[in-house]
Amino acid sequence: MTVPYEHLREDFKILQQHVNDEPLVYLDNAATTQKPEAVLKALETYYHTSNANVHRGVHTLAERATTQYEGAREKVRRFINAPSTAEVLFTRGTTTSLNWVARSLGDLIIEEGDEIVISFMEHHSNIIPWQQLAKRKGAKLKYIELTDDGKLDMDDAREKITEQTKIVSLVHVSNVLGVVNPIRELTDYVHDKGGVMVVDGAQAVPHMPVDVQALDADFYAFSGHKMMAPTGIGVLYGKRKWLEKMEPLEFGGEMIDFVELQDSTWKELPWKFEAGTPNIAGAIGLGAAIDYLENIGMREIMDHEQNLVAYLMPKLEEIEGLTLFGPKKASDRTGVIAFNIDGVHPHDVATAMDMEGVAVRAGHHCAQPLMNYLNQPATARASFYLYNTVADADKFVDALKATKEFFI
Ligand code: PLP
Repeated sequence: MTVPYEHLREDFKILQQHVNDEPLVYLDNAATTQKPEAVLKALETYYHTSNANVHRGVHTLAERATTQYEGAREKVRRFINAPSTAEVLFTRGTTTSLNWVARSLGDLIIEEGDEIVISFMEHHSNIIPWQQLAKRKGAKLKYIELTDDGKLDMDDAREKITEQTKIVSLVHVSNVLGVVNPIRELTDYVHDKGGVMVVDGAQAVPHMPVDVQALDADFYAFSGHKMMAPTGIGVLYGKRKWLEKMEPLEFGGEMIDFVELQDSTWKELPWKFEAGTPNIAGAIGLGAAIDYLENIGMREIMDHEQNLVAYLMPKLEEIEGLTLFGPKKASDRTGVIAFNIDGVHPHDVATAMDMEGVAVRAGHHCAQPLMNYLNQPATARASFYLYNTVADADKFVDALKATKEFFI
């Protein structure tokens, strides 16, 4: 299928505006993505026709809301090829998903002296929950090194992951380096050593086909807002064998089976983890976002981003004094490009580019250990998505050159 990318932008009203008198070029998609009309319409239709609380009511609106909410779960299941909806938990986002695993799985399997392995390219959301777990249990947290071109050092991974390793938690696609990590290979290795594999898929699921059964990871976390759905909705996929043994983290309405004075029992999966009224509209919005993405095709979206990166890289490499982070080969990455201009603070770069209508991010990108590893206090970052075009890429390069000239 050839996607009419130029027309796709018409689905995103927010992109049809000027910022600082320039047409907006939105390149902050790794932070959050814009929402197509189809998603906004799904939210509006839900509130216009079906708003009610789920699961508990027998009236028509309650049944409609429940059908749509559980229908969204089925869409997520199909989208990531999970074996069953029992293994698809709705959360607030990747951060909540990873915290749930660290807390509940951590309580179940981590003991003093055990090892937990992550890497130097993790987002804070995939560091701090494990730090806290390690502190709570007296476990050891180890970090896998990176290669010079911003990939996971697989030799070091094989050294760090040992028979003492109980949990390995790694990012699928780095939100700074853009690199796609070889999750299946790592999962096989972790399983061989007897460990559990957790994957932070926040920057992968929106940009490429993800099949959790093919990856064989035990847990896989992602956020709706990075894939065109509203904020406040996310997913934790977990293998049934683990979820059944794990304790819920929140208790109250929705997640119980029977409540007696001194004790209670939980509902079956996935509801035992979903205490309280869930984000019903958010889940329905996520379902609509999945429909939108599937209509284009995840392989197509990945190709589009990699084509943009392949188009951009030689142009960026020509700019003197520009440092690029992450692998140079477009096929190793998605559309995240972190960079610095020698002698210019990334915040100044982002501010100057905003004057040209180009929205990029600057800072540590919630990855301070990675910044230290790269010996950078911060970087600027442009992150592309399916609605970005070659014209956007050109505008980005022009704005970058203008910024450099302005400061140097
Ligand atoms: N992991 C990665 C790689 C991310 O890029 C992000 C968000 O930037 C997160 C985790 C956290 O996602 P959220 O803030 O949606 O929970």
